[in-house]
Amino acid sequence: MNIILLGAPGAGKGTQALRIEENYRIKHISTGDIFRHHMRQQTDIGNLARSYIKKGQLVPDEVTLKIVEIALEDAGKINFMLDGFPRNINQAKALDGLVAIDKVINIDVDLKVLTDRICGRRNCMECGYTAHVSTLSDGVCPKCGGEMYQRVDDQEDTVRSRLEVYTAQTAPLIEYYEAQGKLASVNGMGAPDEVFAEIRKVLG
Ligand code: ADP
Ligand code: ZN
Repeated sequence: MNIILLGAPGAGKGTQALRIEENYRIKHISTGDIFRHHMRQQTDIGNLARSYIKKGQLVPDEVTLKIVEIALEDAGKINFMLDGFPRNINQAKALDGLVAIDKVINIDVDLKVLTDRICGRRNCMECGYTAHVSTLSDGVCPKCGGEMYQRVDDQEDTVRSRLEVYTAQTAPLIEYYEAQGKLASVNGMGAPDEVFAEIRKVLG
């Protein structure tokens, strides 16, 4: 099964993607993770991506499409889950020309809770685990002991532009996939396990 995870920044896509990956034989492809990997390695793509990501803007489509095509080839174009892609209609149309998508899961949250969720978010350097700072007793990952850090784009002014970009460019994808008969929306306001229980119902 080939699926897309849709949702605003901070909706919990990454959190749910880890659970889906653990419970289904499906490859997680996160464009944000790929860009962060490039930024750490200081590749040309990473240096270019950083200038957009820091401002909360989308990385240009031609660059994003290139990394997605490579990731899809690596996955053998089957049994994958896209997280953070597509993010606008142009990317969705390009994707339609590359692979067949079976289901699109939209994690639906109230945009008002997102600023706090994102600004309080910490990520593990080692395993990608994310948690709200209020649940951490120190700077150490409860899962693997790695170092927890704050993303460069998780500060308040950047978050504001990310939410604007989401509303203007990404939210229209909900209707796009609804029209294709592929959309399933789940309530993203509950605890991570409650949201995952809803996703299980969709995936079977
Ligand atoms: P979130 O979903 O929390 O906003 P991501 O890790 O998915 O975070 O993405 C972080 C940033 O990486 C985005 O704000 C954007 O700048 C860039 N990015 C990720 N995916 C894409 C994409 N499909 N198209 C353009 N830019 C992207
Ligand atoms: Zn960890």
